[in-house]
Amino acid sequence: MSSQDNSNRNWSLQDFDIGKPLGRGKFGRVYVARERKSKYVVALKIIFKEQIKKHKIDHQLVREMEIQTSLRHPNILRLYGWFHDDERVFLILEYAHNGELYKELRKQGHLSENHAATYILSLTKALAYCHEKHVIHRDIKPENLLLDHEGRLKIADFGWSVQSSNKRHTMCGTLDYLAPEMVENKAHDYTVDNWTLGILCYEFLYGVPPFEAESQLDTFRRIIKVDLSFPSTPSISLDAKNLISRLLVKDSSRRLPLQKIVEHPWILKNANPMGICN
Ligand code: AMP
Repeated sequence: MSSQDNSNRNWSLQDFDIGKPLGRGKFGRVYVARERKSKYVVALKIIFKEQIKKHKIDHQLVREMEIQTSLRHPNILRLYGWFHDDERVFLILEYAHNGELYKELRKQGHLSENHAATYILSLTKALAYCHEKHVIHRDIKPENLLLDHEGRLKIADFGWSVQSSNKRHTMCGTLDYLAPEMVENKAHDYTVDNWTLGILCYEFLYGVPPFEAESQLDTFRRIIKVDLSFPSTPSISLDAKNLISRLLVKDSSRRLPLQKIVEHPWILKNANPMGICN
């Protein structure tokens, strides 16, 4: 079931052997599972319909499923298909063997420049592909980034993404990763993802997001001012700081475009173009 489009097939729970739980999200649980016929290993995400109703996320879920099924990129987690019974909806997802990037980041404190650059390059390529398809993710954060068995980054969770070529006005996303125009509730476009790449690059290298503060209000203030500083430890290359400074730019039209990130000296010197981190 790996390559062809199975989203229209009539799957049911009988098609799978269910294995160990992989994690618990806001709306359900995720288990490793194996499709009986092909022996193909997947992650099965189970969401209770009651939760969907309670949180009024039915439209969001349908949108997430439609977007994720339509995307085919090595750095975007595949959604192979879905099915439901009376109580539950089941999403058949690509299995990311190495789990959340967030856990790796917390375990190690911060990442090496090689790993950080490899992840930023993978993310940039995946976002360029999304933007081409008129999808803005808007909720890229370490918790939504998974790693496969080779350490290849996979963007997961398209719950907040929007398929549109227009400017968007809705307030959403997670505080620390919000671009100034989103904090100020102004119109925003694809370049919010470029800002987020700057935030992630900083967080990968220093272990904390750049505008972290005691209160939400202080974080808002720091974002609006672009109150950016680079700690002396860990010692980070000038190239990395240059890339971050060119992404965390208040004027969204002046943020480094995705194509220029791919060609940036820090990426060229440090990233594994195959996207693999061991
Ligand atoms: P979620 O409900 O998407 O937040 O998922 C809850 C947790 O399950 C995540 O934090 C991951 O640790 C794990 N998980 C979700 N999807 C996958 C997947 N496709 N492969 C491996 N682990 C996953």
